[in-house]
Parts: sequence; C-alpha cells; structure tokens
Amino acid sequence: MPKPMKVIQLGNLILRRRAESLGSVDMCSKKTRTLVRRMLATIKAQQAVGLAAPQVGAPVRIIIIASRPTAAYPDAPKVEPIVMMNPFIIARSHSENEGWEGCASIPGIRGRVLRNDFMKVRFFNAAGRPDETELEGFLARIFQHEFDHLEATVFTDRAIPASFMTEREYQKMMKSEPKRKK
Ligand code: ZN
Repeated sequence: MPKPMKVIQLGNLILRRRAESLGSVDMCSKKTRTLVRRMLATIKAQQAVGLAAPQVGAPVRIIIIASRPTAAYPDAPKVEPIVMMNPFIIARSHSENEGWEGCASIPGIRGRVLRNDFMKVRFFNAAGRPDETELEGFLARIFQHEFDHLEATVFTDRAIPASFMTEREYQKMMKSEPKRKK
C-alpha cells in the first residue's frame, strides 16, 4: 500500500488556485497512477469519503469519490472508489438538499451545505478512458464538494454560516440526536 500524503490545510494558496486539466498523456502516466494510488491511501488514512488532488498539493483535475459508512457519516452508501480525471458536469437537478459536510483540509469544523440532488458527469476514469455516470444523494454531494476543490472553492464558502459546529459537538449530536443526522 502506498504511503498516505499530507493533506494541505485551509490558508494554503494551493486550495485557492483553479486546478489544471490533465492532457491525455498525463492521464496515463506513471506519475498520475502513483498520485491516484497515494490519494486512495490518504482517503483511507483520513477516514474521508472523497479527496481532490489539490488537497495533497497536486494542482490537477483529479477527484476521488470513496463513499462508505464512517464515524462522521454512518449512513453513507458503500461504493467502490470512483476516480475521475477532468470531470465535467453535463446536467444537474434543480432540486437541492441540505446536509452536513466536513473537509480533511479544514479539520474540526462541520457545516450544512445546500447541494443539487442529482448530477450527470462526464470524466476520464483511472485508465484514462472516457466515462459517464449519474450520481444522486450523498454521492452527488461528495462529487460537488470535491469538484469545488478543483474550482478553488471550499465547503465553508458555501455553508450556511449559522450551521457551523465543532467536530466535538458534531460527534456528540450524532450520538444523541439521530434525527438531526440527515
Ligand atoms: Zn474537502
């Protein structure tokens, strides 16, 4: 298993720079393959449900959706990690839902963010081949959060200001008030 990478924290300008598209040669390069494997290791180490390349200091358009139940998101659906290079949004629902988010780059803070319920996305997969998928609910939320990182946006830019909670209070709430989980 490759070594996890250090996660860049809020305040570092890498998180505020738009990530660059990968060329077709870059997508199949050894460097990119190694980066993806190390991003997967980082997701595991961080107990994250997704990650964007700029968060590990690589200013390129790669995101990974890796939803599974974790301490922070016990109701997350379990899916195989989806690697997306140069993701492109084809369609999104008008309908939105509000839900909790956190970010490995902004430790200790949770907030509620309004996201589209449904996304149709075109991207290049881990093998560098064109692919397309439809995401809904929590998976669509993770996608929008990670895609935002490529656009130099973080969830605290979008969260409802009065919703912010510290990690400790969030964990306490998750244990004691299951109805507020959603
Ligand atoms: Zn994030």
